Amino acid sequence: MTAESLRCKECGRTYPLKALFVCEFCFGPLEVAYDYEKIRRRATKERIAAGPPSLWRYADFLPVNGRPAVDLQAGYTPLFRAGRLAAELGLKKLWVKNDTANPTHSFKDRVVTVALTRALEMGFGVVACASTGNLANSVAAHAAASGTQAFVFVPADLEIQKIIATAIYGVNVVKVRGNYDDVNRLCTEIASDKNWAFVNVNVRPYYAEGSKTLAFETAEQLGWRAPDKVVVPVASGSLLTKIHKGFWELGEVGLIRRKQPVVCGAQAEGCGPVAAAFREGLEHVRPVKPKTIAKSLAIGNPADGVFALEAARQTGGVIESVSEQEIVDGIRLLAETTGIFTETAGGVTTAVLARLAASGKIHPQDETVVYITGDGLKTLDAVADTISTFEIDPVLSQFEEQVLQQHVEVIKEP
Ligand SMILES: *Cc1c(COP(=O)(O)O)cnc(C)c1O
Ligand SMILES: [Zn+2]
Repeated sequence: MTAESLRCKECGRTYPLKALFVCEFCFGPLEVAYDYEKIRRRATKERIAAGPPSLWRYADFLPVNGRPAVDLQAGYTPLFRAGRLAAELGLKKLWVKNDTANPTHSFKDRVVTVALTRALEMGFGVVACASTGNLANSVAAHAAASGTQAFVFVPADLEIQKIIATAIYGVNVVKVRGNYDDVNRLCTEIASDKNWAFVNVNVRPYYAEGSKTLAFETAEQLGWRAPDKVVVPVASGSLLTKIHKGFWELGEVGLIRRKQPVVCGAQAEGCGPVAAAFREGLEHVRPVKPKTIAKSLAIGNPADGVFALEAARQTGGVIESVSEQEIVDGIRLLAETTGIFTETAGGVTTAVLARLAASGKIHPQDETVVYITGDGLKTLDAVADTISTFEIDPVLSQFEEQVLQQHVEVIKEP
């Protein structure tokens, strides 16, 4: 393993690679620390290219011992040039990383395959999580695939699609009457009492590392270089922080020229504590009570909010928030110009991209990568009343009169 220890992000004290997540001295969060010399020697472009078509091609950068114990082949999702969306926004070089293409249709498969692999390596028999939905889907699927017992805790008012897509795997789904922050508090209590691996509580340092692979793949798919700017959705702030770290690591081990992309974060106004702190120039993040259709991003007290704030400021980026209407417009714009139907989180990200393009914070010539992290089929209600269709009897005249003569401009055959 190239990972050496867990290190406190505040005071730098180190700990063994166990199921620990806070520093005993200063209560700072722990993060995995690596021997980068060892990674530099091992992780050549050739070795990565010869690896599996999944995030496990970057195993040298992940805190696991051997082969992945829990593998649904997450990652290595498409990155493509979004010409029509770019044109719509007045940009020239825009790429979309389509992480809806993961096994359970969100980027959470990346963090879960790493967390569960490490949890089983450490000898845990039961896995659990506190989730805003997508994590629940992913933990349930990976637990089912590996025959591991799982308890999944979600807010009771979660989208029905996400609850069904979790319970279908035969795991224990516990709906908690409260918001995500209530669920998370309960899970922290349970975690201190039971010897279970809570993927985003006591194994969080390992879980979080999975998100770096989004940066690795982006660089590899661009031909081993970093883009100028990235736009990333922010819930707890972990994903954004780790994309930032991922590009840094590639520079550190010499796989790309040292270059830190400008990191921009996306939140909903209805739950935008990190965006608010950014706007007000604060060093800390004030918790809020979430009220937004972007439920997968509805974390009012984000664990890594301060680090997301730092990453954005350090790189010259911003954390921006958008209205509920902009979220819906963002979903539609992405769908109509790229063919990707994203959930509300992707609506937030697309809407923030649109704002940054309109305000000039993203210039037409900036090579920009936007991360679309979840699938629209999981949040149908958000857009259900914005779509329009025709309905007719199976009669030609009705088609002519009620469809063609109404509002459709038929393009002439060439
Ligand atoms: C969880 C999630 C995020 C953000 O995750 P954090 O690491 O908590 O900031 C983004 N998009 C989707 C779809 C998610 O489910
Ligand atoms: Zn510490």
